[in-house]
Amino acid sequence: MKQIQIEYTDPDSFRTELIILHNRCVEKNNMNLLFQVYSTILEQEPINNICDIIDKVFPDIPYMGCSTSGNIINCQVSAAITVVCTLFEENDTQVKVLQYDMKLLSMTEIAHKIITEADNNKWVKAIELYCTVPENSTTQFCFEMKDIRPDIQIFGGISCSEDITSSASLVFSNKMGYSENSVVAVFYGGESFYVESIKVTGWKPLGRKFHVTKSDGSVIQELDGIPAYEVYQKYLKIQNDENFFYNTLEFPMFYEHNGTTILRVPVASNPDNSITMSSDIETDSIVRISYGDPATIIESIKTAGIEIQKFQPDLLHLFSCAARRTFWSTEEPVYEIYPLRDIAPSSGFFSHGEFLRTDKNLNQHNVTLVIAGMREGEKSKKYIMNSVQEKNLTKIPLASRLANFISATSLELEERNQQLKNINVKLKKTSVTDGLTGLYNRKEIQSRIGEGLHCVREGIFSVIMLDIDNFKHVNDTYGHQEGDNVIIALAKILQDSNVLDAKSFSAGRWGGEEFMLLLPNCDIQDANKIAERIRKCFEGIVFQRAKGITVSIGVSQVREDDTLDTLCVRVDEALYNAKQTGKNRVVVC
Ligand code: GH3
Ligand code: MG
Ligand code: MG
Repeated sequence: MKQIQIEYTDPDSFRTELIILHNRCVEKNNMNLLFQVYSTILEQEPINNICDIIDKVFPDIPYMGCSTSGNIINCQVSAAITVVCTLFEENDTQVKVLQYDMKLLSMTEIAHKIITEADNNKWVKAIELYCTVPENSTTQFCFEMKDIRPDIQIFGGISCSEDITSSASLVFSNKMGYSENSVVAVFYGGESFYVESIKVTGWKPLGRKFHVTKSDGSVIQELDGIPAYEVYQKYLKIQNDENFFYNTLEFPMFYEHNGTTILRVPVASNPDNSITMSSDIETDSIVRISYGDPATIIESIKTAGIEIQKFQPDLLHLFSCAARRTFWSTEEPVYEIYPLRDIAPSSGFFSHGEFLRTDKNLNQHNVTLVIAGMREGEKSKKYIMNSVQEKNLTKIPLASRLANFISATSLELEERNQQLKNINVKLKKTSVTDGLTGLYNRKEIQSRIGEGLHCVREGIFSVIMLDIDNFKHVNDTYGHQEGDNVIIALAKILQDSNVLDAKSFSAGRWGGEEFMLLLPNCDIQDANKIAERIRKCFEGIVFQRAKGITVSIGVSQVREDDTLDTLCVRVDEALYNAKQTGKNRVVVC
């Protein structure tokens, strides 16, 4: 696989270069080619000229192109219009270009057409996507693409114009020509074709988490319940003015989605203090503001370079977010990718957004560098790894150290907060429960009876009071420990929804070996049945030492004029009656 790079200056020289290339291809008897055109110029004329010339000199050879915010050849910025010709050297390598019009087809339909194409062409191993800046977002498209064959790698970029804030963009191909609303898909594959695609960000999360409490597509209305813009105002002192985009560019939102990390740049602040992001962020996402740390970026690119070099690519395709170029404002535009130059010939462009499929999910990224390595044939055993040149950042900038300090301290605070939350949950639980049985304590049961009395006009409500029979005897004969076992056994029955078979209930320890069961939405007949089931179940329990242990039960339904006292006295009377009339029985009052 070889790459021939042509700088487009004028139609005549381009035609001459193509004719020379054509003669070489005839000589070598190889017409397995693909042309890719990257253009920072959006006017139709030069694009049409280029298409005409390719059509004439290389009829039937696929080509495609897109507008860019800068072109990349061999990790350097190349001419305003750059044409890359990829020469496939293996007969079985296949390439196909298709274009889909977003004005005629929905994003879902386009995704389904691409999936069908891949299904019908088993040779397809990779799809390179080029898309104009879509009217809405690529979220639905990315979602639909999950159904594509799992082994297919997908990568690519959204076309751009030199002005990164503009949505002017175009793509074109031999299939459809110049379009401001299209997706171009390049299908690569064949027996000898190999591909590997990865991404690099290098941006690091900074400080505390925010919960996206309200968002609609790419507009975040609220973070933690407050207008999203106020977060950028409060934490970063970024004003709601014409420089908003350039000021927030260094602080994109960082979040996890589909098992990968995604960055989104705030592109505009709106009059209602919502923020429009570079693409969708779903409601309920947990995001953090992130910052571009030069040292981390350089290190990440070095790691990615080593990774992709192990694949032994014949060439690299690079899709680098135009925002990254803007980030290195005082450096060369290709400052960060320059260390990749020795790995393999490379081509690509500065994009408006980047595509990458990871773990079967296609995601559209921002502020990201996507690298696709392609190779024909097996890896060579004799391959010598180049050392990936690292840019020297001798001094870590003060800002980077401060950002690190903020991240570390907010992480500590988050951990402490979580510990406090856990302690609070535990405290809340222990303050309402009884230590021995885990049932509600008397205070909590009283308060729940209070609530029940409050609601009694809207519904019925019954209470059951229980007292273990001859419990003193259990303690005296078998010991206090066995007494505890008996108490715990009854408590378990009072929490057993199989025995109770009630829609809802609250069980509490009233004191000693006395218990109370509250049954909302339960009339006295049903409460009586429940009480009888409890009595029977308890009677059947075989304890280690204690024998024939039973419980007496009083049942009553709440009346409209009841107070806590009148209700408790009545159910206590029922229980007293049960004791008086022989114990181990249920009395309704
Ligand atoms: P009756 O059938 O009339 O209810 O007789 P009884 O023996 O059960 O009498 P009473 O209700 O007065 O006895 C309660 C006993 O429960 C007294 C007390 O020592 C014992 N007790 C209270 N709390 C606990 C406890 O947590 N564990 C144990 N093992 N015993 C307890
Ligand atoms: Mg008692
Ligand atoms: Mg008792």
